[in-house]
Amino acid sequence: MPRTTGINPPVRAAVLASPEYPFTPVDAPIKLDQNESSLDLPDALRAKVLEHLHALTWNRYPDLNGEALSAAIGAHDGWPAAGTVAVTGSNVLIALLVQLAGMGARVLTVKPNFALYALDAKLWGAELVEVPLGPDFVTDVDALIAQIEAGREALAGRAGPAGVIFVPRPHAPTGSLCALSDIERLAQASQGWLLVVDEAYHQFAGPSAMEIARRHEHVVLLRTFSKAWGLAGARLGYALTSEAVARQLRKLVAPFAVSVFQSVCAQVVLAHPQFMHERVAATIAERERVFKALQAHPTWKVLPSAANFLLIRTPDAAQAYASLLSGGVLVRKQDSYFGLQGCIRVTIGTREENDAFLRAAGLSAA
Ligand SMILES: *Cc1c(COP(=O)(O)O)cnc(C)c1O
Repeated sequence: MPRTTGINPPVRAAVLASPEYPFTPVDAPIKLDQNESSLDLPDALRAKVLEHLHALTWNRYPDLNGEALSAAIGAHDGWPAAGTVAVTGSNVLIALLVQLAGMGARVLTVKPNFALYALDAKLWGAELVEVPLGPDFVTDVDALIAQIEAGREALAGRAGPAGVIFVPRPHAPTGSLCALSDIERLAQASQGWLLVVDEAYHQFAGPSAMEIARRHEHVVLLRTFSKAWGLAGARLGYALTSEAVARQLRKLVAPFAVSVFQSVCAQVVLAHPQFMHERVAATIAERERVFKALQAHPTWKVLPSAANFLLIRTPDAAQAYASLLSGGVLVRKQDSYFGLQGCIRVTIGTREENDAFLRAAGLSAA
């Protein structure tokens, strides 16, 4: 390997200035730090995936745009395949959507927030505008609309899109849920923007923004197989949007991007969704049980959540993290985020894992 000279390599200043993604893997017996499913696919489905893989051709390229996969996703979600764009993780779509309508324009979002919207805005040369969450971490849609109005004046006479708006629903990392009526207002106020509703956790939250997306061509829903579906290792996410936006978005996806292996995993689970529904119901029940148990904690304050995790404000996040880890339980510190001083986030796991978490927190499991 050529030696490092200490001089920056010839890459764009925005890339040099960008921090690396803030994640350090840590080993622990009970892993509740990444909002994954604690359970792997049921054995029968793993066997089906392997069977299909065995029967496939590996020496030929897959579909150009993942047509078979888009059709299967569309059929499951009730969305036209022509408006469905699948790639290797919804993370990838966040970058592509910034490239599609944010470069040289704006990325408008809330703070605190899922780290990638801001990271991608900076990497791809979009002006980043972040609106603080309101009380109880609710998305302040009036403040977002005020920014859209302000932007309209600043951008008057300029050609091209105003930019991209990112709203995670449920919100990450707080778990709060923006009302659908507020998403509808935002959709009506955001002509000239792409409005991206990140639904990574929608299965845990009740009705999604799908009906709103059906009525507004500029709305994009982001979904993933990494959370409720329990396929974080497969790396697969997708956008549901209008045919008009999907056609442009596909131009930015590398040809043959989704491998036959990924496609098979998704098609098998989509054909057998029952296990997912059962696990989502169990996770929601566990979330409410852990939420109640945490209310007995003498110094921690737990926030209501519509996702598969809970955000907890503690007097000292580093100390809470370390003491849980010494009890064998790995959670995520969130105290470096705007407004989240002292906060940690715990993924809802199996009943046994959640009991271990409560014990490590000094509480008896209810
Ligand atoms: C986990 C998560 C995703 C999913 O990303 P993938 O790349 O599909 O694994 C997207 N958005 C948010 C807010 C998330 O928490």
